[in-house]
This record gives sequence, C-alpha cells and structure tokens, in this order.
Amino acid sequence: IVPQVLAAATAVRVAGHAGAGGAPLAVHDPATGAAVTEVATGGPAEAAAALAAAKRAAAGWAATPVADRAAALRAVADTVEQLAGGDEWPALITRETGKRLAEARAELGLTVAYFRITADLLERQRAERFDVVPGIRHEVDVRPLGVAAVLTPWNFPVSIPARKIAPAVAAGCPVLFKPSELAPLSSMVLADVCARHLPDGLLSTVLGTPGDVVTPWLTDPAVRVVSFTGSTRVGRLVAAQAAPHFLRTVLELGGCAPFVVLPDADPQAAAETLVVAKYRNNGQSCIAANQVFVAAEVAGDFVDAFVAATRALRVGDPTDPDTDLGPLAPAGDPARMAAIVADAVDRGARAVTADAPLPAAGHYATPTVLLDAPADSRAMTEEIFGPVAPVHVYRDLAEVLRLHHATGYGLAGYVCGTDLDAARAVAGRLRAGIVGINTGTPNTPWVPFGGLGESGLGYEGGRPGLETFQSFASVAARPVEG
Ligand code: NAD
Repeated sequence: IVPQVLAAATAVRVAGHAGAGGAPLAVHDPATGAAVTEVATGGPAEAAAALAAAKRAAAGWAATPVADRAAALRAVADTVEQLAGGDEWPALITRETGKRLAEARAELGLTVAYFRITADLLERQRAERFDVVPGIRHEVDVRPLGVAAVLTPWNFPVSIPARKIAPAVAAGCPVLFKPSELAPLSSMVLADVCARHLPDGLLSTVLGTPGDVVTPWLTDPAVRVVSFTGSTRVGRLVAAQAAPHFLRTVLELGGCAPFVVLPDADPQAAAETLVVAKYRNNGQSCIAANQVFVAAEVAGDFVDAFVAATRALRVGDPTDPDTDLGPLAPAGDPARMAAIVADAVDRGARAVTADAPLPAAGHYATPTVLLDAPADSRAMTEEIFGPVAPVHVYRDLAEVLRLHHATGYGLAGYVCGTDLDAARAVAGRLRAGIVGINTGTPNTPWVPFGGLGESGLGYEGGRPGLETFQSFASVAARPVEG
C-alpha cells in the first residue's frame, strides 16, 4: 500500500473521481529542508464529488449492522498493524514530520488501538429502555448524525485522523477527510487502508485549500458534524464557518500545559518526567509541557537534573536510533523558537542549551532551558510548540494557578509529587482535559480527550468520542390495548 500511495501521489481519494483540480503541492523533509516529492491537490470539483459520494454511501452504511461496522474497523486495525511492522510507513511518517522512527511506530500502534477500541465501544453500547411512566415505554434510538468533516494537523498525521475516522465510521457516518498539507502522504496511506475495508465513497480524502475544499463541505446541509484538530487560530475560523449551519463542532486546539513540581517531589524523577513531557515529538505535541513551575524546596536538584538531561540531548537525523530529538516539522520555525528565547532573555531569563551543535541543514532548533523565566515572557504565556522549556521557581501554589489560568488554555497538565492525594488535589485545580501525575504520557485511547477554554470544545476518544458522531432520538410508545 505504501509504495502505491507514493507512486500515485494524486492525493485525492474520491470514489469514481481521480481528478486533481488544485495546484501541485511540494512535500518537504524537515530533516534536510529539501522538497522530497510533489502531490496533486483537489479543487472545488473534487470537494463536490466527495460530497456526492458521501451522500450516496450514507443510507447503506447507516443500515449496516453494528457487528459488520465493528468488523470493518477491526479489519482496518489488522492491516494498520501489519504495515506498522514493516519499515515503509514509519519511514514515511518520519520523513514528512521529522519525528523519530520509534515515535512513528508508536503512532501507528496508537492508530491500531483507536480502531480496535472504537469497535469494542460500539459493540458495548446498549439500547436504553425506560419503563418509568405507566403504560408508556421510552426507548432511545441511536443514529448516525450525518456526514462528518474531518480536518487534521501535521504533527500526528495518522493517529489523529484515526481518532476521528474510527468513531465516525463506527457511528455510521460517511467521512470527508482533509489531511494536513504538511504531512499528507502518511495520512493518505491510512485513507487507502480504510478504503480497502469500507464501502465505496464512505471515506473521501481531498487535499486542497480551505476555500476550495473545506468551505463547500461545511456549508452543505448533509454535513452535520465537523471534527477539527489544529491551532486555536484556525479552530476559531472553523467554528465561525460551522456555527451558522448548526454543525456539531469538535475542536481540539493548542495548549500551554503547566508542569508543576510539588515540594515533596523526587527531583530526579520529576526531571525525567519533564524530558518526556517536553521533548516528545520534538517538542511539537499539543499536550507538551509548556510552563514549568518548580517548588523552591526542590528547585536546585530538579533544575540540575533537567539541565543535564537537556544538555545531553543528541539533536539530528530522526532515522538514526541514537537521536533524541529531530527537527521541527515543515511548519515549525526555528526562528520563532529563537525569538521566544530572546524575549525571555531580554526579560532576565538565563538560557542553557544542548551541548552538541545542530546539523548544518534542516529545520533544527536548539533545545533550551530558560532559567528564572519571567511570568510575562512569551515562553510562559504562549504555546511554544518546540524544544524550549521555561522554568519558574515558585513559593506559593496560588501563584502557579494564577499564571496557569491566565493563559486561557486548558488542554493538559502535569503534577509531580510523592503524596498522590495531594498531587491529585492540585490536578483537580488545573484547567485541563488530561493530567499526568508523575507521568509524561497521560493519554490512552480508552479515555476521553478534550480541551477547555482556548484549547477547544468537545471530546475525542472513549465513549464521548463515539457519541460525537451519533444522534439520540427518544421514542415514547404506548402499546395499544388488544
Ligand atoms: P493548523 O491549525 O495550522 O492546521 C490544521 C489543519 O487546518 C490543517 O489541515 C490545515 O490545512 C487546516 N486549515 C488551515 N486553515 C484552515 C481554514 N481556514 N479552514 C479550515 N481548515 C484550515 O495546525 P498545525 O500547524 O497543522 O498543527 C499544530 C497545532 O495543532 C498546534 O497548535 C497544536 O497544539 C494543535 N494540536 C492540537 C491537538 C489536540 O488534540 N488538542 C493535537 C495535535 C495538534
């Protein structure tokens, strides 16, 4: 499948329509900065053909028994698992995104889980029936909501689409998928795998400009739900387009996660947790630790350990197993990282950087710890989305909570401490959809995932993720006396 995708590279997957009405798009390798291939994009004709195919496929798929829909999801999972065991798809993900090969493989593992778990959740859903009003039976019918528009970012080009496509298809909804133009081919492989196990036209994939592709989708009455993951800026644009049409809208947006080291934390363990929470996916994860708050009692040892780990990071080729940190992805901007560091230093922070020099070519940014980062610096108030860690020593937890809540974001948070009850109490005061206590990897496909405030609206994953694509109709029936 992977070589076929690379060879075809038409980047338009619409039943019965192989056109390419948009301008060709260059795909770059962030590790070298070079354009590695070109894909064709779709235009208004492909967007319209995708819509027509979705409408044709809708009724048949909605009527398909739950067991058959679940079986299709499991078949997708099996094929993803098989391809994940090979080298081609992980290598493609690494080439488009710059993430390390091990992380590319892990992303495919997550993708398998999303399809399998969604199949399980679908089969576990029970018909609800209430006999609470004398003489009347109340039943809840679960139905597919309608055609789903799925819009995704570059940083997890397979697992984020999977987290949307799996529940949409499970619920019985046709899907219109626009992957990120920055890492399109990895997403196209997933689309092709899905197409092998789904009816014609149920999933159409079109790359193209938002005006050509997304707008016609969001304004068509058959489309009832849009699930978007990406920046808060674009999320706002999507929400504005969706609102007049009363689309159900799920927005998984940016974050500015606090990482709170409590006075009773083990400083070495907390530093190791931060290495994961900060540098995973080359620092480009929506749940990456952003504001680091360390209690004065443990600040010395914690900072020493984290600075030592950062200085030792090997930055370079993401295909090399010895590499700790790859490049920023195509959209990632090393100059923006440098500006964020310069801003903090201008305001009085001290910057400590990784020891080894960066590779000469490619989109690499220097891993940097900003000591004594001022509360009003860009690093403490913006989503960094790169390998820069501002550390702020605190004496009063109220100050931490004030600075965290002031960002407006509410996606993820981290707490390190020995007394788990105390750590949980702090976690409960964070504005976050997901919190890791003494762990840098809090997410699992079983749990709902969603942000608050500037981080978005609605949920993916778990039962709420499936219900996003369902409508519920309550039917009250009074049996006629015979
Ligand atoms: P982005 O917002 O630039 O792009 C996301 C998608 O939106 C892409 O497919 C893009 O083509 C499309 N898009 C751009 N303009 C559009 C418009 N006007 N209308 C409709 N669609 C449009 O984001 P990105 O750079 O690809 O991803 C990084 C951002 O995503 C970060 O802010 C990160 O925090 C966030 N993110 C959030 C989550 C989460 O689950 N909350 C997960 C991953 C990434």
